[in-house]
Amino acid sequence: MTDVRARLAAMQEGDLPVHGGRTLAYVYDSGLAEVDALGRDAVAAYAGSNGLDPTAFPSLLAMENDLVATACDLLDAPEGAVGTVTSGGTESCLLAVQAARDAHPEVTDPAIVVPDTVHAAFHKAAHYFGLRTVVVPVGGDFRADAAAMAAALDATTVLVVVSAPSYAHGVVDPVTEVAAAAAARGVRCHVDACIGGWVLPYAARLGRRVPPWTFAVEGVTSISVDLHKYGYAPKGTSLLLHRTAALRRPQYFAWADWPGYTMLNSTMQSTKSGGPLAGAWAVTREIGDEGYLRLAEAALTATDAVVRGVPSSLSVVAPPESTLVALETDGSCDVFTVADEMAARGWYVQPQMSYAGRPPTLHLSLSAATDADGFLAALSDAVAAAVAAGPVTVDPEVVAFIEALDPTALTDDDFDGLLAASGLVGASDDGGLALPDRMAGVNALLDVASPRMREALLVAFLDRLSRPADRL
Ligand SMILES: *Cc1c(COP(=O)(O)O)cnc(C)c1O
Repeated sequence: MTDVRARLAAMQEGDLPVHGGRTLAYVYDSGLAEVDALGRDAVAAYAGSNGLDPTAFPSLLAMENDLVATACDLLDAPEGAVGTVTSGGTESCLLAVQAARDAHPEVTDPAIVVPDTVHAAFHKAAHYFGLRTVVVPVGGDFRADAAAMAAALDATTVLVVVSAPSYAHGVVDPVTEVAAAAAARGVRCHVDACIGGWVLPYAARLGRRVPPWTFAVEGVTSISVDLHKYGYAPKGTSLLLHRTAALRRPQYFAWADWPGYTMLNSTMQSTKSGGPLAGAWAVTREIGDEGYLRLAEAALTATDAVVRGVPSSLSVVAPPESTLVALETDGSCDVFTVADEMAARGWYVQPQMSYAGRPPTLHLSLSAATDADGFLAALSDAVAAAVAAGPVTVDPEVVAFIEALDPTALTDDDFDGLLAASGLVGASDDGGLALPDRMAGVNALLDVASPRMREALLVAFLDRLSRPADRL
């Protein structure tokens, strides 16, 4: 037993730290060690409980209803609003799309209308559930173009999506205008507040200017908000709220026509651990409304400090409306090298590739535990090192070669060659696959590839990473 525990701890050493506020994507740190410990205890206590049947585990239903009530209060939900705890933001988004589709069986070619900044989860939903996406470019301010989105609605539209805020740029879409246009046509309007939903209401209470985006906006029919982001809960929980029970109904799946138990599911999972739900319940009860207000204040203050202190050579892409910041360079260095230099200094910042004629950026999700001064000191050093190194370049011949490739026509052998040539896959000392220490060269190469080519290369990469460990 102890040996296995030691091995777990040793393996985890190689991962990004989840505490300390230095990992500015993937994890969210309240900085409250006792709250984290409580959350872990709750996960452990409920790890074996099964959310499949709320009558068998009534405490799970009670905790879910408590969490939904808390979120309804936070998000201005009217009487009659309902919600479901899901496994994460993606599942909340998938279910919003699935419910919208199944509410309209008469629409044979259903579509969702989304801004081009919408989270990739909606493209995944359309892919899984067989809907078309009508993608509308955002305006120069990176916000959804309300007029263009309204014009894109037609008889096949079953759902319109807006973000509060968008992941890539951290700005809130014009929810009021888009929701009004949707309501006028009887179309559902989902607000994806997966990342900002637990911060923006507190930002407004702290006196910051936050455009309306909750259920207070007429025409908003559903909202997704993740507890495992700024709810600071252990991983594995999000909420999907609907304005009415009738809107939620098509989300439910029941199957009685087989010889086993009657299956009755509110989410995509059937058997589901009670652990994450109990962890989120415990953490949200412990932090409480006043606690979240203070955590939001800390994260927003850190965000302000970062925006004010961004070193020369970098600039903020759009003034942040919550705790997400996108940074771009002036050309004297490149974001990929800055990311490597930050990693060398113990900070993780997330590269975002070029899109729609805009240069690549660095994404920062600031947590309550992020030390802005420490971050800015590291960033200033990292930028100086990146400027000294000069922007990473890709040989024009390589660019031309990659541009000429058709990802759909490539064979497995082609991908093996491309992955080796890109530096993405190298042989490690023990003969396995090894990731390069510095990613700038690889990222620069991926950045010149088309999105389709990038997807194909990375899928091939993941495929080769995901192979059985050495067998006896
Ligand atoms: C994180 C995020 C999602 C997806 O959530 P997961 O929990 O990663 O599945 C969806 N939308 C937005 C805006 C997000 O930030």
